[in-house]
Amino acid sequence: MAGVDSAHLLVVEDEIAQMELLRYNLEKEGFTVSTAEDGDEALLLAQEEGPDAILLDWMLPSTSGIEVCRQLKQGEETREIPVIMLTARGEEADRVRGLETGADDYVVKPYSVGELIARIRARLRISRPAATGATLKFADVTVDTTEHRATRAGRPLRMGPTEFRLLTVFMERPKRVWSRDMLMDRVWGRDGDVDQRTVDVHVGRLRKVLNSGGADDLIRTVRGAGYALDVAD
Ligand code: CA
Repeated sequence: MAGVDSAHLLVVEDEIAQMELLRYNLEKEGFTVSTAEDGDEALLLAQEEGPDAILLDWMLPSTSGIEVCRQLKQGEETREIPVIMLTARGEEADRVRGLETGADDYVVKPYSVGELIARIRARLRISRPAATGATLKFADVTVDTTEHRATRAGRPLRMGPTEFRLLTVFMERPKRVWSRDMLMDRVWGRDGDVDQRTVDVHVGRLRKVLNSGGADDLIRTVRGAGYALDVAD
């Protein structure tokens, strides 16, 4: 099961041998890996799956990596996903061009897998604090992802493991609206056999735990879209 501890990466690379090597090494490190062979597939998967980070080859057929990066950084749903460009081109001008399109980091081929993984982890520490064992805080809620403990206004919150994972996902990106599909992917993993109704049931349970004692409701239901952790206006 892919819980929140296993970050989900999208690898965009048209050379199959390279892609498979990357997939092998990243899965060995515990990452969940999706792959795309061209820019259009990458843009589609980025939107559908909301990966935690994208490894993007510069040289791709039809739509170039640079163009894919530009579109990712303009997309409402994809702009916050860190993008690490993979390229054979090491010149300073290219590097600057890559970063100008919004790429978050840049690795020149041939790179060592160890270096690449270090770069990925560095990005995730910023964008996915729970994946690196941080304490998350929002409003009067605190989640300790190492000890697996949560409190509200200092009072311990008791909940099942699924509700805890759900809360962690919400706490990593307060105010972000999560679709049920994205929550299914994050909380149950892509192999999880759940439907949208199951998501609603667990969100309902989490809401009950959070609001016990008459505290303000922190989970906002966004009609037709999903749920967000938010404070009432
Ligand atoms: Ca390529």
